[in-house]
Amino acid sequence: MTTDQETVPAPEAMSFRAEVQQVLHILAHSLYTDREVFLRELISNASDAINRLQFEMLTNQDVLNPEAELAIWIEVDKEAKTITVRDTGTGLTRQEMIDHLGTIAQSSARAFVQQAKEQKANASEIIGQFGVGFYSVFMVADKVTVVSRSFQPDAEAAVWESTGGNSFTVGVAEHAERGTSITLHLKDDAAEFANDWKLEQIIKRHSDFVSFPIYMGERQV
Ligand code: ADP
Ligand code: MG
Repeated sequence: MTTDQETVPAPEAMSFRAEVQQVLHILAHSLYTDREVFLRELISNASDAINRLQFEMLTNQDVLNPEAELAIWIEVDKEAKTITVRDTGTGLTRQEMIDHLGTIAQSSARAFVQQAKEQKANASEIIGQFGVGFYSVFMVADKVTVVSRSFQPDAEAAVWESTGGNSFTVGVAEHAERGTSITLHLKDDAAEFANDWKLEQIIKRHSDFVSFPIYMGERQV
């Protein structure tokens, strides 16, 4: 492992699978009124990752940052119009990013596309139902950056980035701590979400049951 700039390879561009492209297209161009569920999906993924880490730690002593608090942090940058959700869960290796943030089970994707076209259900219901949770960020963001470091001590940190079109990039990142940090660059028409108070209301509505602390800045919500 090295941090020498000259040996860090350029990010590699990869295509989303066809069914993911279709789902992304629908989400990015949807006019859903309940776009706020993107936050529920991010918090739910963070909570799942912390749960998996806790389970891993029952049998594995060799975990990166074993003392790190198990929690979720949310930060808003009003000027930059970004929201960052960070957790100290399992993290993702570069390969896991490619495998988990680039594919959807084909049957789920098909069902999602079908339902969305028929407008039978609202976004909130179908997003949760068909396992396309992560991609819901593209309802509000036109660029998403995921920086992560796996709990496996010898894994390098990695960065995944997409503007929600047909492709994403993966590369090597600087990220010292275990866990995942997801930054949403909000669309102009979603700038309203770059607001602590608003996010806190959304958390109260949709993520009240989460069993790990959620911090906004220094404050636990
Ligand atoms: P689901 O949660 O139903 O599996 P998602 O689309 O919400 O589907 O997430 C896809 C996958 O991406 C997850 O199963 C997980 O492997 C990975 N993932 C997403 N967010 C995180 C995170 N914060 N930490 C670790 N892995 C994550
Ligand atoms: Mg999920």
